[in-house]
Amino acid sequence: MSTPVEHIVIVGGGTAGWLSACVLGARLRGKRITLVEAPDIPTIGVGEGTWPTMRETLATIGIPEAEFLVACNAAFKQGSRFDGWRDGWADDSYLHPFTAPPAADMRDLAAAWQTCGQQGSFAAAITPQHAVCAANLAPRQRAMPDYAGALNYGYHLDAGKFAALLMRHATQRLGVTRIAAQVTGVSRAANGDIAALLLQGGATLEGDLFLDCSGQAAILIAGECGAEWVDRSDVSFNDRALAVQVPVEPGSPIAAQTIGTAHEAGWIWDIGLPTRRGIGCVYASRFISDDRAAEILRAYIAAKVPGSDPASLTPRKLAFRTGHRDRFWIGNCLAVGLSAGFIEPLEASAIVLIELSLKALADNFPQSRASMDIHASRFNELFRYRWDRVVEFLKLHYVPSQRTEPYWQAQRAPETIPPRLAECLALWREQAPSAWDFPRIDEMFPAASQQYVLHGMGVPVPLASTTPAAPARLAEIAAKARALAAALPTTRDYLDLLAAGSAAARIPA
Ligand SMILES: Cc1cc2nc3c(=O)[nH]c(=O)nc-3n(C[C@H](O)[C@H](O)[C@H](O)COP(=O)(O)OP(=O)(O)OC[C@H]3O[C@@H](n4cnc5c(N)ncnc54)[C@H](O)[C@@H]3O)c2cc1C
Repeated sequence: MSTPVEHIVIVGGGTAGWLSACVLGARLRGKRITLVEAPDIPTIGVGEGTWPTMRETLATIGIPEAEFLVACNAAFKQGSRFDGWRDGWADDSYLHPFTAPPAADMRDLAAAWQTCGQQGSFAAAITPQHAVCAANLAPRQRAMPDYAGALNYGYHLDAGKFAALLMRHATQRLGVTRIAAQVTGVSRAANGDIAALLLQGGATLEGDLFLDCSGQAAILIAGECGAEWVDRSDVSFNDRALAVQVPVEPGSPIAAQTIGTAHEAGWIWDIGLPTRRGIGCVYASRFISDDRAAEILRAYIAAKVPGSDPASLTPRKLAFRTGHRDRFWIGNCLAVGLSAGFIEPLEASAIVLIELSLKALADNFPQSRASMDIHASRFNELFRYRWDRVVEFLKLHYVPSQRTEPYWQAQRAPETIPPRLAECLALWREQAPSAWDFPRIDEMFPAASQQYVLHGMGVPVPLASTTPAAPARLAEIAAKARALAAALPTTRDYLDLLAAGSAAARIPA
């Protein structure tokens, strides 16, 4: 009989490692889980925007929403706003909201918006979330059940606090064992599988399935199992980031979306948390120097954060390789997180890929070694598909730009555009994006997302026919936007009240 898979060993204690420990600990009751992390090798310590998927993940893990929000200094994220991407002029801004347009009639509504003279932006016409974001409102009221919302939302969070919360939860509530040690090598089984990890100090740690969450080091999937690197820097140029944390005035508004502001050779992220803003300059090192990127970052902070002192901030420099592995699961080793790959954080697609990997694994957990290669082959096929779609969707943000700097001109060069994206762009000159272009039920970026970006970037999308009911539907969306704007609290009020209540609850009677 083939060996049962009883002991899961996770290498790495960043967001990927501790999310893996929590999800598998909650979903695979009865399995033994051990996480080993090197105390002297730091985690990457960024990754502060999540997708709405995080709500289901946290609910599955068993962390109450209020506990999560307070412990992680978190706020709600309702999408991404892109400033300066079209041409860099004053009114150049659009929103990619998390709430999809009303499902079946998206083309119809887009046509109605076009027919009505495109009053306001596409996102403003098609979802009430635009108005809610513009007013810095929360997507839910306090009285709603955990993880439910009037609108779709994810989170902005403090990455260090998030990993700490997940570690406490995994070790104290889910029975996960933590070992602080550096992995220095492996021993092999007769079939070539990893039999055990060799730890600094001489100990060994045996397991049945090994998750490589060792970050960019990828010590198991690349170092031991020989997965090849698929470089995507020919499409996605950015390979550096400078990150700072800027304190904010108490009571100041908290933005409802990530703000991504284009600059001469990349873009700046701006993520609002209750006590600070995480701001970072993403750039391509072959177009500008680190010093120039630091100047751009400081100029942004001076202009956008009232009362800040940009000269006093020391940015943290991060370098990353753009691409992913050719295989993510080899033998009894599965890569999750940065060890699997990384493409710039433009649509915050890294943590969601961790969540999707864990869902795929837990839904199809190999009960014995006999079925593992079948699961591995399916997993590899699915995630090659997903990485390809991520690369294409991020590139879609650049290709229609009319900005004139050399970096932006290079982004439009035909040889840098993946063939499938080029094909879609050719089709979309004649018909709007639809589910025919993105046929999987679990697409990461469905046709609605493509429409938000195309319309936001001002790409002319052909006029479809519209039904008589469509303009009335647009009026309903506008009415819902007004109703939600009147009913929802500001994010600042929501989170301050939550923090005050949580502090009061800790005061002994
Ligand atoms: C600039 C930037 C911005 C980003 N923004 C976002 C975002 O907004 N949203 C998003 O979803 N993602 C974002 N990401 C990606 C996100 O940060 C990562 O996906 C996430 O943090 C997961 O990292 P990780 O756990 O895989 O790796 P890491 O955090 O690097 O953790 C690696 C772990 O492995 C351990 N380790 C390494 N070698 C060994 C060894 N030999 N033995 C034992 N342990 C070892 C380390 O000690 C550490 O605990 C961003 C990334 C960058 C670079």
